[in-house]
Amino acid sequence: MIDLVGLSREELLAEVLSIGEKPFRVKQLWHWIYNKGVTDFSKMSSLAKPLQKKLLEKYFISRPYIVTERNSADRTRKWLLRFKDGKEIETVYIPEKDRGAVCLSTQVGCQMGCRFCHTGTQGFQRNLSASEIVSQFMIARDSCGEWPTPVDETRYLSNIVFMGMGEPLNNYDNLVKAIRIITDGDGLAISKRKITISTSGIADKIPSLAKDLGVKLAISLHAPNDTIRNQIMPINKKYPLPVLISACKEYQHLCERRQYITMEYVMLKGINDSPENAHELIQLVQGLEVKFNLIPFNPWDGCPFRPSSQKTIQQFSKILENAYFAAPIRQSRGQDIMAACGQLKSIFHQQKKIS
Ligand code: SAH
Ligand code: SF4
Repeated sequence: MIDLVGLSREELLAEVLSIGEKPFRVKQLWHWIYNKGVTDFSKMSSLAKPLQKKLLEKYFISRPYIVTERNSADRTRKWLLRFKDGKEIETVYIPEKDRGAVCLSTQVGCQMGCRFCHTGTQGFQRNLSASEIVSQFMIARDSCGEWPTPVDETRYLSNIVFMGMGEPLNNYDNLVKAIRIITDGDGLAISKRKITISTSGIADKIPSLAKDLGVKLAISLHAPNDTIRNQIMPINKKYPLPVLISACKEYQHLCERRQYITMEYVMLKGINDSPENAHELIQLVQGLEVKFNLIPFNPWDGCPFRPSSQKTIQQFSKILENAYFAAPIRQSRGQDIMAACGQLKSIFHQQKKIS
């Protein structure tokens, strides 16, 4: 049995031809699967009954199993999803007033080992397939009842951020394949401008993002110099800041239109939050078009760091703003259900440890 979710248009065409059908079936199937969200061949009314039966014999349209769905007091929603091999990941929906972002995972666990990140301390299990990446978004659509794909811009699930579990650029091929499916105008139809990939800084993959995808880029910078970054992000040994910054420059050079890069910066008390650090940061990003995003640190059990005070974060932001950078402080969402940055999968693991 073959899962139709996650196949590229070319792969779907090969399947359609393999069962003796004409190429136009690709468009029909694509529409039913990704525009209407139908998972049952018998509900595909534009297909004759014998064809529905033929499809049923060889194919299925998958969704991961929803282990739990939790709602936060601030309306953030988090799903713990289980795939066929029993592996689990989390997906988060963060609603705003008239739109909202779905935060997708790309791997089960993460091998990068960033010291402030709870996901990072839990080790790596495997990459997600394109199907598993795309179907997280489809679960969110099911849950919010946003089928068929809205034609106007009033959708609730308007943006996608690859800021869940895992390092997206370590699963590059599946990521690219999934984004091509997600942005296809006949299906889920999310515009590239509404998709952001966040990376810890796999420098040699960054320029190709501009060519392959043209989506927005966020860098988990988190430090103004190599000494600090080496302490908190092991990836910095492989790609130190000068290498990372020049990859960002190349990316911006290759982008078709003017494209800001968001520099994410988690505020760790006494580690990277001094006024000198803010000034160093300004020097570091010279020659790049960036916005900063200051993230209050979300602590977890056993973590060696403490959050910077609100006052320190505001002062840090002010220094950046005085140098004409946007430097908003990210509002932490969904903390009561452990859905905030760096907290994913924590409760599940804690429960496992106890039981
Ligand atoms: N792996 C990717 C994307 C996922 S994490 C990356 O690292 O960019 C999304 C953001 O949350 C990243 O900037 C990450 O560094 C940050 N983060 C991780 N742990 C955190 C924590 N405990 N508190 C606040 N932010 C955290
Ligand atoms: Fe992985 Fe991102 Fe966490 Fe680092 S911050 S360990 S790259 S998920």
